[in-house]
Amino acid sequence: MSALLSSAPLRNPAPVLRFAPSPTGLIHVGNARTALLNALIARRAGGTFILRFDDTDAARSRAEYADAIAADLAWLGIAPDVTVRQSDRIADYAAAAERLKAMGRLYPAYETEEELDLKRGLQRARGLPPVYDRAALALLPEDRTRLEAEGRRPHWRFRLDHRVVAWDDGVRGPQQVDTATLSDPVLVRADGSFLYTLPSVVDDLALGVTQVIRGEDHVTNTAVQIEIFEALGGPVPGFAHHNLLTLPSGEGLSKRLGHLSLSALREAGQEALAVAALSVLVGTSHAVEPVDSLDALAAMVDLSAISRAPARFDPADLDALTARTLHLMPFAAAAARLQAAGIESEEAFWLAVRANLARFEDAQGWWEIVATPQAGVIADADRAFLSEAAGLLPAEPWDGGTWKTWTAGVKAATGRSGRGLFHPLRLALTGRETGPELAALLPLMGRARAEGRLKGAVA
Ligand code: GLU
Repeated sequence: MSALLSSAPLRNPAPVLRFAPSPTGLIHVGNARTALLNALIARRAGGTFILRFDDTDAARSRAEYADAIAADLAWLGIAPDVTVRQSDRIADYAAAAERLKAMGRLYPAYETEEELDLKRGLQRARGLPPVYDRAALALLPEDRTRLEAEGRRPHWRFRLDHRVVAWDDGVRGPQQVDTATLSDPVLVRADGSFLYTLPSVVDDLALGVTQVIRGEDHVTNTAVQIEIFEALGGPVPGFAHHNLLTLPSGEGLSKRLGHLSLSALREAGQEALAVAALSVLVGTSHAVEPVDSLDALAAMVDLSAISRAPARFDPADLDALTARTLHLMPFAAAAARLQAAGIESEEAFWLAVRANLARFEDAQGWWEIVATPQAGVIADADRAFLSEAAGLLPAEPWDGGTWKTWTAGVKAATGRSGRGLFHPLRLALTGRETGPELAALLPLMGRARAEGRLKGAVA
Protein backbone atom coordinates (compact mmCIF):
# COMPACT_ATOMS: atom_id res chain seq x y z
CA MET A 1 0.00 0.00 0.00
CA SER A 2 2.74 2.46 0.84
CA ALA A 3 4.19 2.08 -2.66
CA LEU A 4 0.82 2.97 -4.11
CA LEU A 5 0.31 5.82 -1.69
CA SER A 6 3.64 7.34 -2.64
CA SER A 7 3.06 6.94 -6.38
CA ALA A 8 1.17 10.16 -6.85
CA PRO A 9 -1.44 10.18 -9.63
CA LEU A 10 0.67 12.52 -11.73
CA ARG A 11 3.43 9.94 -12.01
CA ASN A 12 0.95 7.18 -12.80
CA PRO A 13 -1.16 7.89 -15.86
CA ALA A 14 -2.98 4.53 -15.61
CA PRO A 15 -6.42 4.85 -14.02
CA VAL A 16 -7.00 3.99 -10.38
CA LEU A 17 -10.50 2.81 -9.43
CA ARG A 18 -11.97 1.46 -6.27
CA PHE A 19 -14.89 -0.49 -4.88
CA ALA A 20 -15.74 0.73 -1.39
CA PRO A 21 -18.28 -1.47 0.38
CA SER A 22 -19.10 -1.15 4.05
CA PRO A 23 -18.63 -4.63 5.55
CA THR A 24 -22.08 -4.64 7.14
CA GLY A 25 -23.59 -7.55 5.21
CA LEU A 26 -23.14 -9.87 2.26
CA ILE A 27 -22.78 -8.07 -1.04
CA HIS A 28 -25.53 -8.46 -3.62
CA VAL A 29 -25.73 -8.24 -7.39
CA GLY A 30 -26.15 -4.45 -7.23
CA ASN A 31 -22.84 -4.22 -5.37
CA ALA A 32 -21.37 -6.62 -7.93
CA ARG A 33 -22.43 -4.18 -10.67
CA THR A 34 -20.43 -1.41 -8.96
CA ALA A 35 -17.45 -3.65 -8.23
CA LEU A 36 -17.32 -5.05 -11.76
CA LEU A 37 -17.65 -1.71 -13.52
CA ASN A 38 -14.69 -0.40 -11.53
CA ALA A 39 -12.60 -3.57 -11.78
CA LEU A 40 -13.21 -4.17 -15.49
CA ILE A 41 -12.46 -0.59 -16.48
CA ALA A 42 -9.23 -0.77 -14.47
CA ARG A 43 -8.38 -4.13 -16.04
CA ARG A 44 -9.07 -2.97 -19.58
CA ALA A 45 -6.83 0.08 -19.14
CA GLY A 46 -4.02 -1.69 -17.27
CA GLY A 47 -4.92 0.36 -14.18
CA THR A 48 -5.26 -0.40 -10.48
CA PHE A 49 -8.35 -1.79 -8.75
CA ILE A 50 -8.58 -1.05 -5.03
CA LEU A 51 -10.89 -2.73 -2.53
CA ARG A 52 -11.58 -0.30 0.28
CA PHE A 53 -13.56 -1.38 3.30
CA ASP A 54 -15.60 1.56 4.56
CA ASP A 55 -15.63 0.28 8.13
CA THR A 56 -15.66 3.46 10.22
CA ASP A 57 -19.04 2.40 11.64
CA ALA A 58 -17.60 0.10 14.28
CA ALA A 59 -21.01 -0.96 15.56
CA ARG A 60 -22.19 -2.38 12.23
CA SER A 61 -18.95 -3.46 10.52
CA ARG A 62 -17.81 -7.08 10.89
CA ALA A 63 -14.53 -8.75 9.92
CA GLU A 64 -16.54 -11.80 8.73
CA TYR A 65 -18.36 -9.65 6.21
CA ALA A 66 -15.08 -8.16 4.98
CA ASP A 67 -13.73 -11.69 4.46
CA ALA A 68 -16.94 -12.75 2.71
CA ILE A 69 -16.78 -9.72 0.38
CA ALA A 70 -13.15 -10.51 -0.55
CA ALA A 71 -14.18 -14.13 -1.24
CA ASP A 72 -17.13 -13.00 -3.37
CA LEU A 73 -14.89 -10.75 -5.47
CA ALA A 74 -12.41 -13.59 -5.90
CA TRP A 75 -15.28 -15.82 -7.04
CA LEU A 76 -16.27 -13.18 -9.61
CA GLY A 77 -12.64 -13.16 -10.75
CA ILE A 78 -11.84 -9.57 -9.78
CA ALA A 79 -9.37 -9.90 -6.94
CA PRO A 80 -8.18 -6.38 -6.00
CA ASP A 81 -4.62 -5.14 -6.54
CA VAL A 82 -4.73 -3.34 -3.20
CA THR A 83 -6.96 -3.69 -0.12
CA VAL A 84 -7.33 -0.95 2.49
CA ARG A 85 -9.44 -0.60 5.61
CA GLN A 86 -10.67 2.78 6.76
CA SER A 87 -10.37 1.65 10.38
CA ASP A 88 -6.58 1.61 9.85
CA ARG A 89 -6.52 5.17 8.59
CA ILE A 90 -8.38 7.16 11.26
CA ALA A 91 -5.32 9.35 11.99
CA ASP A 92 -5.41 10.66 8.41
CA TYR A 93 -9.10 11.55 8.71
CA ALA A 94 -8.45 13.33 12.01
CA ALA A 95 -5.64 15.32 10.37
CA ALA A 96 -7.92 16.29 7.47
CA ALA A 97 -10.65 17.30 9.93
CA GLU A 98 -8.17 19.57 11.74
CA ARG A 99 -7.21 21.20 8.45
CA LEU A 100 -10.87 21.85 7.66
CA LYS A 101 -11.43 23.30 11.14
CA ALA A 102 -8.42 25.59 10.69
CA MET A 103 -9.90 26.95 7.47
CA GLY A 104 -13.30 27.46 9.05
CA ARG A 105 -14.95 24.74 6.92
CA LEU A 106 -15.73 22.38 9.80
CA TYR A 107 -17.73 23.78 12.69
CA PRO A 108 -19.11 22.38 15.91
CA ALA A 109 -22.85 21.97 16.33
CA TYR A 110 -24.61 20.90 19.50
CA GLU A 111 -28.22 20.12 18.57
CA THR A 112 -29.55 16.76 19.69
CA GLU A 113 -31.41 14.49 17.25
CA GLU A 114 -34.69 15.52 18.93
CA GLU A 115 -33.91 19.22 18.48
CA LEU A 116 -33.03 18.68 14.84
CA ASP A 117 -36.25 16.70 14.31
CA LEU A 118 -38.23 19.52 15.84
CA LYS A 119 -36.57 22.10 13.56
CA ARG A 120 -37.27 19.98 10.50
CA GLY A 121 -40.90 19.53 11.56
CA LEU A 122 -41.34 23.30 11.86
CA GLN A 123 -39.70 23.93 8.47
CA ARG A 124 -41.98 21.39 6.81
CA ALA A 125 -45.02 22.92 8.48
CA ARG A 126 -44.04 26.25 6.92
CA GLY A 127 -43.53 24.64 3.51
CA LEU A 128 -39.74 25.02 3.69
CA PRO A 129 -37.18 22.35 2.78
CA PRO A 130 -35.75 20.67 5.91
CA VAL A 131 -32.27 22.14 5.52
CA TYR A 132 -30.09 22.74 8.58
CA ASP A 133 -30.38 26.42 9.56
CA ARG A 134 -26.72 26.85 10.55
CA ALA A 135 -27.69 28.08 14.00
CA ALA A 136 -24.44 26.62 15.32
CA LEU A 137 -22.41 28.98 13.12
CA ALA A 138 -23.76 31.90 15.17
CA LEU A 139 -22.63 30.46 18.51
CA LEU A 140 -20.19 32.61 20.45
CA PRO A 141 -17.33 31.02 22.40
CA GLU A 142 -19.26 31.55 25.64
CA ASP A 143 -22.32 29.78 24.18
CA ARG A 144 -20.15 26.77 23.41
CA THR A 145 -18.63 26.81 26.88
CA ARG A 146 -22.12 26.85 28.37
CA LEU A 147 -23.36 24.02 26.13
CA GLU A 148 -20.32 21.90 26.93
CA ALA A 149 -20.78 22.62 30.63
CA GLU A 150 -24.29 21.15 30.21
CA GLY A 151 -22.53 17.96 29.10
CA ARG A 152 -23.09 18.39 25.36
CA ARG A 153 -20.41 17.19 22.98
CA PRO A 154 -20.31 18.72 19.52
CA HIS A 155 -20.69 16.94 16.24
CA TRP A 156 -18.94 18.65 13.33
CA ARG A 157 -20.51 19.98 10.17
CA PHE A 158 -18.86 20.88 6.89
CA ARG A 159 -19.72 24.43 5.87
CA LEU A 160 -20.85 24.16 2.26
CA ASP A 161 -19.97 26.93 -0.18
CA HIS A 162 -23.57 27.44 -1.31
CA ARG A 163 -22.67 27.42 -4.96
CA VAL A 164 -23.46 25.35 -7.99
CA VAL A 165 -21.16 22.33 -8.14
CA ALA A 166 -20.92 20.88 -11.64
CA TRP A 167 -19.31 17.76 -13.08
CA ASP A 168 -19.50 15.78 -16.26
CA ASP A 169 -20.86 12.43 -15.11
CA GLY A 170 -19.63 9.35 -16.98
CA VAL A 171 -23.17 7.92 -17.05
CA ARG A 172 -25.51 10.88 -16.61
CA GLY A 173 -23.68 13.58 -18.54
CA PRO A 174 -23.43 17.16 -17.24
CA GLN A 175 -24.66 17.43 -13.65
CA GLN A 176 -25.27 20.41 -11.40
CA VAL A 177 -26.13 20.56 -7.73
CA ASP A 178 -26.67 23.82 -5.87
CA THR A 179 -25.23 23.13 -2.45
CA ALA A 180 -27.33 25.97 -1.01
CA THR A 181 -30.19 23.46 -1.15
CA LEU A 182 -28.35 21.01 1.13
CA SER A 183 -27.76 20.79 4.86
CA ASP A 184 -24.17 21.22 5.93
CA PRO A 185 -23.25 17.54 6.29
CA VAL A 186 -22.07 16.08 9.58
CA LEU A 187 -18.56 14.71 9.01
CA VAL A 188 -17.67 13.80 12.60
CA ARG A 189 -20.08 12.38 15.18
CA ALA A 190 -20.24 13.59 18.77
CA ASP A 191 -18.28 10.51 19.85
CA GLY A 192 -15.45 11.54 17.51
CA SER A 193 -16.13 8.81 14.92
CA PHE A 194 -16.23 9.67 11.22
CA LEU A 195 -19.15 9.31 8.89
CA TYR A 196 -18.41 8.01 5.42
CA THR A 197 -18.19 11.37 3.61
CA LEU A 198 -14.79 12.73 4.69
CA PRO A 199 -12.82 9.44 4.92
CA SER A 200 -13.87 8.62 1.37
CA VAL A 201 -12.40 11.87 0.04
CA VAL A 202 -9.22 11.56 2.12
CA ASP A 203 -8.69 8.01 0.81
CA ASP A 204 -9.47 8.84 -2.78
CA LEU A 205 -6.81 11.57 -2.56
CA ALA A 206 -4.26 9.41 -0.75
CA LEU A 207 -4.70 6.49 -3.12
CA GLY A 208 -4.68 8.63 -6.27
CA VAL A 209 -8.16 7.50 -7.34
CA THR A 210 -8.82 8.88 -10.80
CA GLN A 211 -12.42 7.75 -11.34
CA VAL A 212 -15.25 7.01 -8.92
CA ILE A 213 -17.97 4.75 -10.28
CA ARG A 214 -20.81 4.17 -7.83
CA GLY A 215 -24.57 3.95 -7.52
CA GLU A 216 -26.79 6.91 -8.28
CA ASP A 217 -27.80 7.05 -4.63
CA HIS A 218 -24.50 8.96 -4.22
CA VAL A 219 -25.18 11.83 -6.65
CA THR A 220 -25.83 14.35 -3.88
CA ASN A 221 -22.80 13.14 -1.93
CA THR A 222 -20.72 13.86 -4.99
CA ALA A 223 -21.51 17.58 -4.89
CA VAL A 224 -20.56 17.66 -1.20
CA GLN A 225 -17.45 15.59 -1.77
CA ILE A 226 -16.29 17.76 -4.68
CA GLU A 227 -16.38 20.72 -2.28
CA ILE A 228 -14.31 18.70 0.21
CA PHE A 229 -11.81 17.60 -2.47
CA GLU A 230 -11.36 21.24 -3.41
CA ALA A 231 -11.12 22.40 0.21
CA LEU A 232 -8.35 19.85 0.80
CA GLY A 233 -6.56 21.06 -2.32
CA GLY A 234 -6.66 17.76 -4.13
CA PRO A 235 -7.48 16.81 -7.70
CA VAL A 236 -11.15 15.95 -8.12
CA PRO A 237 -11.58 12.50 -9.68
CA GLY A 238 -14.04 11.80 -12.47
CA PHE A 239 -17.46 10.57 -11.33
CA ALA A 240 -19.96 8.19 -12.87
CA HIS A 241 -23.22 7.16 -11.17
CA HIS A 242 -24.88 4.03 -12.47
CA ASN A 243 -28.54 3.11 -12.09
CA LEU A 244 -29.46 0.75 -9.27
CA LEU A 245 -30.61 -2.85 -9.60
CA THR A 246 -33.84 -3.98 -7.97
CA LEU A 247 -35.64 -7.23 -7.21
CA PRO A 248 -38.06 -8.42 -9.93
CA SER A 249 -40.81 -6.77 -7.85
CA GLY A 250 -39.05 -3.42 -8.23
CA GLU A 251 -38.08 -3.33 -4.56
CA GLY A 252 -34.58 -1.98 -3.93
CA LEU A 253 -31.83 -4.45 -3.03
CA SER A 254 -30.79 -4.54 0.60
CA LYS A 255 -27.52 -5.90 1.92
CA ARG A 256 -29.06 -6.01 5.37
CA LEU A 257 -32.02 -8.12 4.19
CA GLY A 258 -29.69 -10.44 2.25
CA HIS A 259 -31.36 -9.83 -1.15
CA LEU A 260 -29.70 -11.62 -4.09
CA SER A 261 -26.39 -12.08 -2.31
CA LEU A 262 -23.49 -13.38 -4.37
CA SER A 263 -22.87 -16.17 -1.89
CA ALA A 264 -26.47 -17.40 -2.21
CA LEU A 265 -26.21 -17.36 -6.01
CA ARG A 266 -22.91 -19.24 -5.85
CA GLU A 267 -24.45 -21.82 -3.54
CA ALA A 268 -27.36 -22.19 -5.94
CA GLY A 269 -24.82 -23.24 -8.59
CA GLN A 270 -24.96 -20.11 -10.72
CA GLU A 271 -21.85 -19.43 -12.78
CA ALA A 272 -19.73 -16.46 -11.69
CA LEU A 273 -19.39 -15.28 -15.29
CA ALA A 274 -23.15 -15.40 -15.76
CA VAL A 275 -23.73 -13.40 -12.57
CA ALA A 276 -21.08 -10.94 -13.76
CA ALA A 277 -22.56 -10.60 -17.25
CA LEU A 278 -26.11 -10.08 -15.99
CA SER A 279 -25.01 -7.64 -13.27
CA VAL A 280 -23.07 -5.53 -15.74
CA LEU A 281 -25.28 -5.71 -18.83
CA VAL A 282 -28.83 -5.59 -17.42
CA GLY A 283 -30.24 -2.07 -17.54
CA THR A 284 -27.97 -0.96 -20.37
CA SER A 285 -28.52 -0.60 -24.10
CA HIS A 286 -26.25 -3.63 -24.63
CA ALA A 287 -28.04 -6.99 -24.96
CA VAL A 288 -27.53 -9.40 -22.07
CA GLU A 289 -25.47 -12.24 -23.48
CA PRO A 290 -23.13 -14.92 -22.14
CA VAL A 291 -19.37 -14.33 -22.27
CA ASP A 292 -16.45 -16.72 -22.25
CA SER A 293 -14.18 -14.54 -20.09
CA LEU A 294 -14.12 -11.41 -17.97
CA ASP A 295 -11.94 -9.79 -20.62
CA ALA A 296 -14.77 -10.28 -23.10
CA LEU A 297 -17.16 -8.66 -20.61
CA ALA A 298 -14.67 -5.83 -19.98
CA ALA A 299 -14.70 -5.10 -23.70
CA MET A 300 -18.50 -4.61 -23.54
CA VAL A 301 -18.46 -2.14 -20.64
CA ASP A 302 -19.65 1.26 -21.77
CA LEU A 303 -20.71 3.71 -19.07
CA SER A 304 -22.65 5.81 -21.54
CA ALA A 305 -24.81 2.76 -22.43
CA ILE A 306 -26.17 2.53 -18.87
CA SER A 307 -29.82 3.54 -18.57
CA ARG A 308 -31.09 6.16 -16.18
CA ALA A 309 -33.97 4.07 -14.84
CA PRO A 310 -33.49 1.36 -12.19
CA ALA A 311 -33.10 -2.13 -13.68
CA ARG A 312 -34.77 -5.33 -12.47
CA PHE A 313 -32.47 -8.27 -11.82
CA ASP A 314 -34.43 -11.46 -12.36
CA PRO A 315 -32.77 -14.63 -10.99
CA ALA A 316 -34.83 -16.60 -13.52
CA ASP A 317 -32.78 -14.95 -16.29
CA LEU A 318 -29.70 -16.14 -14.49
CA ASP A 319 -30.59 -19.83 -14.85
CA ALA A 320 -30.62 -19.51 -18.62
CA LEU A 321 -27.47 -17.39 -18.66
CA THR A 322 -25.61 -19.85 -16.44
CA ALA A 323 -26.47 -22.65 -18.88
CA ARG A 324 -25.43 -20.57 -21.90
CA THR A 325 -22.20 -19.58 -20.15
CA LEU A 326 -21.35 -23.26 -19.60
CA HIS A 327 -22.11 -24.04 -23.23
CA LEU A 328 -19.43 -21.52 -24.26
CA MET A 329 -16.89 -22.28 -21.56
CA PRO A 330 -13.47 -23.27 -22.87
CA PHE A 331 -11.82 -26.35 -21.34
CA ALA A 332 -9.04 -24.19 -19.91
CA ALA A 333 -11.62 -22.39 -17.77
CA ALA A 334 -13.26 -25.65 -16.65
CA ALA A 335 -10.21 -27.90 -16.14
CA ALA A 336 -9.30 -27.00 -12.56
CA ARG A 337 -12.91 -27.19 -11.42
CA LEU A 338 -13.37 -30.58 -13.09
CA GLN A 339 -10.29 -31.84 -11.35
CA ALA A 340 -11.46 -30.46 -8.00
CA ALA A 341 -14.68 -32.44 -8.52
CA GLY A 342 -12.63 -35.62 -9.05
CA ILE A 343 -13.19 -35.60 -12.81
CA GLU A 344 -9.84 -36.55 -14.35
CA SER A 345 -11.04 -35.76 -17.83
CA GLU A 346 -9.47 -34.46 -20.97
CA GLU A 347 -10.76 -31.74 -23.23
CA ALA A 348 -12.82 -34.20 -25.31
CA PHE A 349 -15.05 -34.96 -22.31
CA TRP A 350 -15.72 -31.29 -21.59
CA LEU A 351 -16.44 -30.49 -25.24
CA ALA A 352 -18.78 -33.50 -25.43
CA VAL A 353 -20.89 -32.61 -22.40
CA ARG A 354 -20.82 -28.82 -21.90
CA ALA A 355 -23.76 -28.16 -24.23
CA ASN A 356 -25.95 -30.34 -21.99
CA LEU A 357 -25.17 -28.67 -18.70
CA ALA A 358 -27.62 -26.48 -16.82
CA ARG A 359 -25.23 -26.31 -13.86
CA PHE A 360 -21.52 -27.08 -13.72
CA GLU A 361 -22.18 -29.90 -11.27
CA ASP A 362 -24.19 -31.72 -13.96
CA ALA A 363 -20.84 -32.69 -15.49
CA GLN A 364 -20.46 -35.18 -12.63
CA GLY A 365 -23.32 -37.38 -13.85
CA TRP A 366 -21.94 -37.52 -17.38
CA TRP A 367 -18.50 -38.35 -16.03
CA GLU A 368 -19.95 -41.27 -14.12
CA ILE A 369 -21.66 -42.44 -17.29
CA VAL A 370 -18.49 -42.43 -19.38
CA ALA A 371 -15.97 -43.42 -16.72
CA THR A 372 -17.58 -45.57 -14.05
CA PRO A 373 -19.53 -48.85 -14.07
CA GLN A 374 -23.22 -48.25 -14.71
CA ALA A 375 -26.24 -50.27 -15.79
CA GLY A 376 -28.00 -49.02 -18.90
CA VAL A 377 -31.77 -49.08 -19.32
CA ILE A 378 -33.04 -51.94 -21.48
CA ALA A 379 -36.64 -52.64 -22.42
CA ASP A 380 -37.44 -56.36 -22.84
CA ALA A 381 -38.51 -55.76 -26.43
CA ASP A 382 -35.06 -54.37 -27.28
CA ARG A 383 -32.93 -57.03 -25.62
CA ALA A 384 -32.17 -59.07 -28.74
CA PHE A 385 -31.65 -55.99 -30.88
CA LEU A 386 -29.14 -54.57 -28.39
CA SER A 387 -27.21 -57.77 -28.13
CA GLU A 388 -26.98 -57.96 -31.92
CA ALA A 389 -25.77 -54.33 -31.95
CA ALA A 390 -23.13 -55.22 -29.35
CA GLY A 391 -21.81 -57.91 -31.65
CA LEU A 392 -21.38 -55.32 -34.41
CA LEU A 393 -19.24 -52.90 -32.35
CA PRO A 394 -16.04 -52.24 -34.30
CA ALA A 395 -12.61 -52.93 -32.92
CA GLU A 396 -10.77 -50.08 -31.18
CA PRO A 397 -9.21 -47.52 -31.59
CA TRP A 398 -12.39 -45.45 -31.64
CA ASP A 399 -12.84 -41.89 -32.73
CA GLY A 400 -15.57 -39.38 -33.58
CA GLY A 401 -16.54 -41.40 -36.68
CA THR A 402 -17.07 -44.70 -34.86
CA TRP A 403 -20.70 -44.02 -33.89
CA LYS A 404 -21.71 -43.36 -37.49
CA THR A 405 -19.97 -46.41 -38.89
CA TRP A 406 -21.33 -48.66 -36.17
CA THR A 407 -24.97 -47.47 -36.35
CA ALA A 408 -24.92 -47.73 -40.15
CA GLY A 409 -23.90 -51.37 -39.71
CA VAL A 410 -26.62 -51.94 -37.06
CA LYS A 411 -29.23 -50.35 -39.32
CA ALA A 412 -28.25 -52.57 -42.24
CA ALA A 413 -28.24 -55.73 -40.10
CA THR A 414 -31.48 -55.13 -38.15
CA GLY A 415 -33.54 -53.00 -40.52
CA ARG A 416 -34.22 -50.52 -37.70
CA SER A 417 -33.92 -46.79 -38.31
CA GLY A 418 -34.69 -43.40 -36.76
CA ARG A 419 -35.90 -43.41 -33.18
CA GLY A 420 -36.35 -47.19 -33.15
CA LEU A 421 -32.64 -47.52 -33.86
CA PHE A 422 -31.13 -44.71 -31.82
CA HIS A 423 -33.34 -44.46 -28.74
CA PRO A 424 -32.71 -47.97 -27.35
CA LEU A 425 -28.98 -47.54 -28.02
CA ARG A 426 -28.91 -44.27 -26.07
CA LEU A 427 -30.91 -45.74 -23.17
CA ALA A 428 -28.71 -48.82 -22.95
CA LEU A 429 -25.43 -46.89 -23.23
CA THR A 430 -26.22 -43.95 -20.96
CA GLY A 431 -29.31 -44.90 -18.95
CA ARG A 432 -30.83 -41.53 -19.97
CA GLU A 433 -33.45 -40.43 -22.47
CA THR A 434 -31.44 -37.48 -23.73
CA GLY A 435 -27.92 -36.15 -23.52
CA PRO A 436 -24.79 -35.25 -25.44
CA GLU A 437 -24.08 -36.52 -28.94
CA LEU A 438 -23.35 -40.24 -28.73
CA ALA A 439 -20.70 -39.78 -31.42
CA ALA A 440 -18.72 -37.83 -28.82
CA LEU A 441 -19.58 -40.01 -25.81
CA LEU A 442 -18.92 -43.40 -27.37
CA PRO A 443 -15.12 -43.07 -27.75
CA LEU A 444 -14.93 -41.72 -24.18
CA MET A 445 -16.78 -44.78 -22.91
CA GLY A 446 -14.69 -47.32 -24.80
CA ARG A 447 -15.59 -50.64 -26.30
CA ALA A 448 -15.64 -52.88 -23.21
CA ARG A 449 -18.03 -50.61 -21.34
CA ALA A 450 -20.30 -50.12 -24.35
CA GLU A 451 -20.47 -53.83 -25.06
CA GLY A 452 -21.21 -54.71 -21.44
CA ARG A 453 -24.04 -52.19 -21.14
CA LEU A 454 -25.62 -53.26 -24.43
CA LYS A 455 -25.70 -56.79 -23.04
CA GLY A 456 -27.36 -55.68 -19.81
CA ALA A 457 -24.31 -55.84 -17.56
CA VAL A 458 -23.16 -53.22 -15.04
CA ALA A 459 -20.17 -52.01 -17.03
N1 GLU B 1 -19.36 2.76 1.34
C1 GLU B 1 -20.07 3.48 0.33
C2 GLU B 1 -21.20 2.61 -0.18
O1 GLU B 1 -21.13 1.41 -0.02
C3 GLU B 1 -19.10 3.81 -0.78
C4 GLU B 1 -19.60 4.77 -1.77
C5 GLU B 1 -18.46 5.18 -2.68
O2 GLU B 1 -18.14 4.41 -3.58
O3 GLU B 1 -17.88 6.23 -2.46
O4 GLU B 1 -22.16 3.09 -0.71
